[in-house]
Amino acid sequence: MMGQERSEEKSECVSLSPMREAVPAPPECERVCVFGTGDLGRSLGLRLLQAGYGVVFGSRRPHSSSLLLHGAQVLGHAAAAQSALLIFIAVQREHYDFLVPLANQLKGKVLVDVSNNLRKNQYPEANAEYLQSLVPGAEVVKGFNTLSAWSLQNGPSDANRQVYICGDSVEAKQVVMAVATKLGLSALDQGSLSVARELEDFPLQLFPQWRLPLRIAIGLSAAFFFYLLIRDIIYAYATQGEDISFRIMVSLANQVCPIVSLIMLSLCYLPGVLASFLQLYRGTKYRRFPNWLDSWMLCRKQLGLLSLGFAFLHVLYTLILPIRYYLMFWVTEHTVSLIRENRTTTFDTTTAWRGDSYLSLGILGFGLYVQLGITFLPSVSNVLSWREFSFVQSKLGHLTLLLCTAHTYLYGWNRFLSSSIYKWYTPPGYMLCLVLPSVVLLLKLLLITPCVDRTITRIRQGWERGADQRNPKDSQPLIP
Ligand code: NAP
Repeated sequence: MMGQERSEEKSECVSLSPMREAVPAPPECERVCVFGTGDLGRSLGLRLLQAGYGVVFGSRRPHSSSLLLHGAQVLGHAAAAQSALLIFIAVQREHYDFLVPLANQLKGKVLVDVSNNLRKNQYPEANAEYLQSLVPGAEVVKGFNTLSAWSLQNGPSDANRQVYICGDSVEAKQVVMAVATKLGLSALDQGSLSVARELEDFPLQLFPQWRLPLRIAIGLSAAFFFYLLIRDIIYAYATQGEDISFRIMVSLANQVCPIVSLIMLSLCYLPGVLASFLQLYRGTKYRRFPNWLDSWMLCRKQLGLLSLGFAFLHVLYTLILPIRYYLMFWVTEHTVSLIRENRTTTFDTTTAWRGDSYLSLGILGFGLYVQLGITFLPSVSNVLSWREFSFVQSKLGHLTLLLCTAHTYLYGWNRFLSSSIYKWYTPPGYMLCLVLPSVVLLLKLLLITPCVDRTITRIRQGWERGADQRNPKDSQPLIP
């Protein structure tokens, strides 16, 4: 089989473009070789041709290849390898052993390993490291594996423009990055080839940072849904025989959404506050936070974005309230009964103040909420300095929490004091959801008092309590 392949390689190239024979071949640096004429190989070849490169495919069967790219050449692997400095290996890792007999032709070439695996830790070493061990004379660069054949075919208009690259040779990486740039992609150098496994795991990821926030969101939604279902709907049925189950669809949903949103916004700011207290207690910033706090802090963005999503749903549910049949019926009934009984009601300024303040704080809180969400967009965060970003996320974030908490307090108003709201001795949902934001805001208030703030600022600037007397053996290293 190998001998047969060799004899094919000796044969002349198969040009798919009649014009190419007349036009002199581009220099080696302007020619790119792609091993494999499968989905990714073809898409990559097409993109390279569009970018002005000469493309030479290396295939097992150059004569019978069904490759239809106009302007590309298809050769045997050995001949193709000799025609270009840069070779994309668009072949599954399982077949890499075909490269071993080509070691001489591949010496000094830059091989781009684009392969992915079906699952994490499928092989003991990264595919790119395996490729490097098979062809030690070549310079292997891992890259382009995060792009799909489909997105490559879509051309430069597709949003997927980033390629991550790693490799041990700086020059080889520069060659690959130059090609990526010419293809309209932005290449990000991730370091040495030891990072390859991380890059290979990248396409297999399934929202890793979103798992905990999503679980929290689903858990809170389910818990409050059943809590409110029992307190409102089942209670009315059990005590008065009244069927108000229709309220599940809008009223209940419109209670669950703001409750979950407020709790998740508090959960977004609680780890920062806890971390500050931990630093105050330890008197240093040079000790690692516990792992649970680290992971919690890492998913604050996702917590915040989910919280914004729930707030948005609350706004939508609130906007449709006036067109609800239930409300229209109730208002008409009330008006008719006033007319029948020849009664009038007096305008209550306090209630008007309360209602308007409640709505106004809600709108302001939501407005700031949206601003917080917008600053997470890469195009926005990229133009913000670190100080501006932390001002928005910390100062405006806490202000958002304050406004939304005040909005909920105003919703409760003096109902907190009425015993009738404690159905089956349980507090209403909005009261429960106020506990966490109130605690976070109180702790934050403590942290911004001048004496505490001064100490925490000094700690963050590197000051350590009792640093002079401390035995160096007592301090826990940052990297264990
Ligand atoms: P594919 O469609 O199956 O094509 C693979 C090509 O490899 C074949 O067309 C064949 O080309 C060559 N090949 C097959 N068996 C071989 C053997 N025993 N020896 C030598 N060459 C052999 O696969 P693909 O989807 O293009 O994927 C290629 C690589 O790119 C894989 O490692 C994959 O993980 C990676 N990747 C793919 C995508 C994607 O969207 N498809 C995205 C990112 C990364 P010839 O017949 O011309 O020899």
